[in-house]
Amino acid sequence: MQISEIRVDGYEKVVRCKDDASGLHAIIAVHDTTLGPSLGGMRMLPYASEDEALFDVLRLSRGMTYKSAVADTGLGGGKSVVIGDPKLKSPALFEAMGAFVDSLGGKYITAEDMNIGISDLDIVRRKTRWVTGLSLENGGSGNPSPYTARGCFMGMKAVLEEAFGSASFAGRHVLLQGVGAVGGRLAELCKQAGARVTICDINEARVKELCAKFGFESVADANHLSVACDVYAPCARGATINDATIPQLKCKAVAGCANNQLLEPRHADVLKARGIVYAPDYVINAGGIINVSIELVPGGYDEPKALAKIDRIYDNLRQVFQIARDQGVSTHTAAERLAEQRLAAGRRR
Ligand code: NAD
Repeated sequence: MQISEIRVDGYEKVVRCKDDASGLHAIIAVHDTTLGPSLGGMRMLPYASEDEALFDVLRLSRGMTYKSAVADTGLGGGKSVVIGDPKLKSPALFEAMGAFVDSLGGKYITAEDMNIGISDLDIVRRKTRWVTGLSLENGGSGNPSPYTARGCFMGMKAVLEEAFGSASFAGRHVLLQGVGAVGGRLAELCKQAGARVTICDINEARVKELCAKFGFESVADANHLSVACDVYAPCARGATINDATIPQLKCKAVAGCANNQLLEPRHADVLKARGIVYAPDYVINAGGIINVSIELVPGGYDEPKALAKIDRIYDNLRQVFQIARDQGVSTHTAAERLAEQRLAAGRRR
C-alpha cells in the first residue's frame, strides 16, 4: 500500500492511497480540525480521473467543516472518495480502505455516503475504529434518515417564524418534492403538526402509497412548481433552485433536506430579492451528522442526547436568519458567516 500526500493550500491534510493488492485508489481530505477531528462520508464513484476525484473530495470536505461548525457537532470537516466502479466492490478493497483511514490516527472519521452502505463500513471497521454510522447492533446510530427528517421539521419551525411570525404548522401548506427516506418522514411530521401537505415524486407508486396512508395530496412531479404553498421543501436532488425555477416558485419559504439545492450561491440572493425565506440546506439537513456525532461522545450513542442536539437546528437557523437580517445578506452568506465565527472562536481557544 502506497500512501502519499497531496499539498493543497487551505487544507490540513490531503492523502492518496494506491494499493495494488486490493485495487484501492482513494483520497482522503481533511479540511479543518479546529473544532474537532474531521468527520465526513466515504463515497465511491467511477471518477474519470484522479483530478476529478480530488476536486470532489476537496469541495465536499470543506462543506463538512461548515456544516459541522453550524451544527455545533464538535467536529471538523473531512471526506473520502474511493475511485472505482461500485459494482466492483470487494472485502479486500474495504479492508484496505480501513487501513488507509486508520493511517490518519483519528484525524479523519468516516461514515456512509454515495454508493457506500453499512455492510461496506462493517468491513472498513475491521481495520480501523474511526468509523461511524454502523448498525445499531454494531454499536452505531443506525439509519440517519429519520433524524435528518426530525431536524428539518425543527428547522421548518424557525422558517415559519421567520416567514409568518409564528412557528405553528396549523393551516400552513407544505409542498414536498421527493418523498424518500427523509422527505416521506418529513411529510408525515408536517401533517401530524397540522399542515396541509402536497407531495410529488418520480416514484408514483410511493406517492400513491403515502397519500393513502397519511392523507397527503399529490401533484405530478412535472407540474409541482405550479402549486401555491407556504413552504416548498426540495427533498429529492440538488440544483433545483436556479434561474429557471425561482421565477416559478409560489411560496414564502424554501426549506428541505436535499443537498446542494442552489445551482449557484448567488441563487440565495435571487430568493432574497423575491422575498422568499431560504433555509440553507446544510444547516437544516444536519440531523444525520448530529446523530452520528453522538456516537463519538464519551459513553457512546445515546438517542435522547442526539434528539436534544438535533432539535437545536431550530436555534441554529434562527441565528442564521438574525445574521442575514442584521447584515443585510442572504441566508447562504449568513450561514457561512456563522460557521466562520465559530471557527474563529475555536482558533482563539
Ligand atoms: P431517497 O433516495 O430515499 O429519496 C429521494 C426521493 O426523491 C426518492 O423517492 C426518489 O424517487 C425521488 N426523486 C429522485 N429524483 C427525483 C426527481 N427528479 N423528481 C422528483 N422526485 C425525485 O433519499 P433521501 O435519503 O431521502 O435523501 C433525499 C435528499 O436529502 C438527497 O439530496 C440527500 O443527499 C439529502 N440528504 C439526506 C440525508 C439522510 O439522512 N438521508 C441527510 C442529508 C441530506
